[in-house]
Amino acid sequence: MSVTGDDEDAGLRVGRPKDWAGGLPAVGNAMRIARREMGVARSTRTLLRVNQKDGFDCPGCAWPEGGHRSPAEFCENGAKAVAEEATTRRVTPEFFAAHPVGDLAVRSDHWLGGQGRLTRPMHKPAGSDHYVPVSWESAFEIIARELRALGGPDEAVFYTSGRTSNEAAFAYQLLVRRLGTNNLPDCSNMCHESSGSALTETLGIGKGTVSLDDLHRAELIFVVGQNPGTNHPRMLTALEKAKRGGARIIAVNPLPEAGLLRFKNPQHPSGLGRGTALADRFLQIRLNGDLALFQALSSLLLDSADRAFVEEHTHGFEDWERHLRGLDWDRVLAATGLTRAEVEETAADVRAAGSVVVCWAMGLTQHRNSVATIREVVNFLLLRGNVGRPGAGVCPVRGHSNVQGDRTMGIYEKPSAAFLDALGAEFGFEPPRRHGLDTVEAIRAMRDGRVKVFFGMGGNFVRATPDSAVTEAALRRTRLTVQVSTKLNRSHAVCGEEALILPTLGRTERDPGGYVTVEDSMGLVHASRGRLKAASPHLLPEVAIVCRLARAVLGDDPHVPWAEFERDYGAIRDRIARVIPGFEDFNARAPGGFALPNAPRDERRFPTATGRANFTVNELEVLEVPPGRLLLQTVRSHDQYNTTVYGLDDRYRGVRAGRRVVFVHPDDLAERGLADGDVVDLVSEWPDGERTAEGFRAISYPTARGCCAAYFPETNVLVPLDSVAETSNTPTSKSVVIRLVRADPRSPAGG
Ligand code: SF4
Repeated sequence: MSVTGDDEDAGLRVGRPKDWAGGLPAVGNAMRIARREMGVARSTRTLLRVNQKDGFDCPGCAWPEGGHRSPAEFCENGAKAVAEEATTRRVTPEFFAAHPVGDLAVRSDHWLGGQGRLTRPMHKPAGSDHYVPVSWESAFEIIARELRALGGPDEAVFYTSGRTSNEAAFAYQLLVRRLGTNNLPDCSNMCHESSGSALTETLGIGKGTVSLDDLHRAELIFVVGQNPGTNHPRMLTALEKAKRGGARIIAVNPLPEAGLLRFKNPQHPSGLGRGTALADRFLQIRLNGDLALFQALSSLLLDSADRAFVEEHTHGFEDWERHLRGLDWDRVLAATGLTRAEVEETAADVRAAGSVVVCWAMGLTQHRNSVATIREVVNFLLLRGNVGRPGAGVCPVRGHSNVQGDRTMGIYEKPSAAFLDALGAEFGFEPPRRHGLDTVEAIRAMRDGRVKVFFGMGGNFVRATPDSAVTEAALRRTRLTVQVSTKLNRSHAVCGEEALILPTLGRTERDPGGYVTVEDSMGLVHASRGRLKAASPHLLPEVAIVCRLARAVLGDDPHVPWAEFERDYGAIRDRIARVIPGFEDFNARAPGGFALPNAPRDERRFPTATGRANFTVNELEVLEVPPGRLLLQTVRSHDQYNTTVYGLDDRYRGVRAGRRVVFVHPDDLAERGLADGDVVDLVSEWPDGERTAEGFRAISYPTARGCCAAYFPETNVLVPLDSVAETSNTPTSKSVVIRLVRADPRSPAGG
């Protein structure tokens, strides 16, 4: 079934892309959306609490707050995320009576999200096309009944999105392991799993090794495969501060994103003028060329290795050095699309810098060779001792606000033995040791009928995942889908035979269990306190949903005090403190916030298999694209956060009132006999067949040659389920081979 878009693209307009981000338009847009959703008084009251010490953590991205907090400690997209949650619109039982599931399934993401907050638990009985209200007790009984009816606990999967608080995540993974499975896929599987895999192997920690202070003190910052102006807007403030301190910035991206070029800080007088130029050098790299770039840079810097660091702290340098000495420059240039001069000038920048940070996001993590690419970034930094000293290190920039914390709390399908040992010892039970299913494996298992119950703790699974047609069929094959949600989304419409929607509190709302905590992208843990009245008296906090479900499924559990956990989140934090290293005295330290220990950063200690930081040898492959094809990357628009579509504009790229666009280099359009404005279908090719996304307006755009870009979730349909990164199993959404096919002018899309 296709999504209609409700004719949302009818007014599509395309202008010139911007070469700066932020400024007054960002403030104006944030305020306009906040007032539209919340009204003036509620907007002011709510926004002034975002990211404040006694306020709530922004439900947007995971970028950290600095020490000094201004009264307006949020960005345009943070304001949109808050407005989306604190909206005064409501989805009532009457709404569901008027809109059968079949109707919801053809609505756009923007339309669904725009209906407002969910207000009641809803149930779609088997065989029915309507959701009807259900009591919480009945909802938990339905889930318990279906879980008990399974052939074993591994026939259920329990997904988590990155909004879930530490307390809810810890209780949730505990419940899942008490049920006997490690089937805990999460949104990390689709974003920074490649970073976690590569960093754990090479540095001994699956997270970044820099603090905000390191970023401010860096002499050279690479921003690779990342669009901070849209996805982590307050990172621009940190980059601006680093520039004022004398840092150089190198942007590596196929697209010249506005936020990488110039920043007008709305909270600084300079923001009224020309702002601050950010990137000193823009390397317009071909998609998938990053591994080759970092190998080439390292090969040029071998003579300036930090020998003392390499000898004292690393392993595998000689093999890696030998490998680099045989570097094939023709392949480097083919893979990167850069000139040798560009690479050499960049190497000179590195040679001149005492401390280097490499930041990255999905542009590095969603390729078949992403883990190898990030290993190569680590090699590059280790070569000159740029790990574990001030102003230097790896900085994978995390997306959703607590995605990193959820993993720390044990939301992981492959938990370590040490974590399971500690969990089992604390609660007096034997947790399951078999590894569980990640996101891609969970979809395959549902598709094949091996998983019969899907439980989603937040998120919009069906739109966050690849191969939309396959994933939708997989979910529809299950016996029961359960979605814990704040707002309506497509995962409520693409559901199992029987389905439940469990409405929950948002970050902005007062939680009867007390404050919750989150961990940001740089490993800082802090409290979050919502103050707004709940959107409906029928909502439950996520923790209460977990604890009541536990009691419904497990009965009187002698191992876990579920009722106490629901009443008092301090009791959960006490247990976290005893199970997870770094959380000692959690309750005492949470209100003020604290940094988790980070051995590579704090002590230059690398808890890897060799006990040292590992250099690794990675093969340089040139991603060959057949004649006539392009490499597609899926991207977000500026009016979007993950799967949530706030609006239909992408201001920085010059797109207004529409989303079905594909950005293509003018020469690539001309080569195909296409012109700016032509309507095309995007067709991806894979051994099991072709996939088509219909009706996209081709936009002539200064992206790298041979590459193109279009928004997800609309283009998720093009990413085959089995096209994944080696080791991390992350879908390859940043390197999809496609061809552009002129749309049939007689079809609605082509007319
Ligand atoms: S940078 Fe991220 S966390 Fe900070 S206000 Fe913006 S969206 Fe929220």
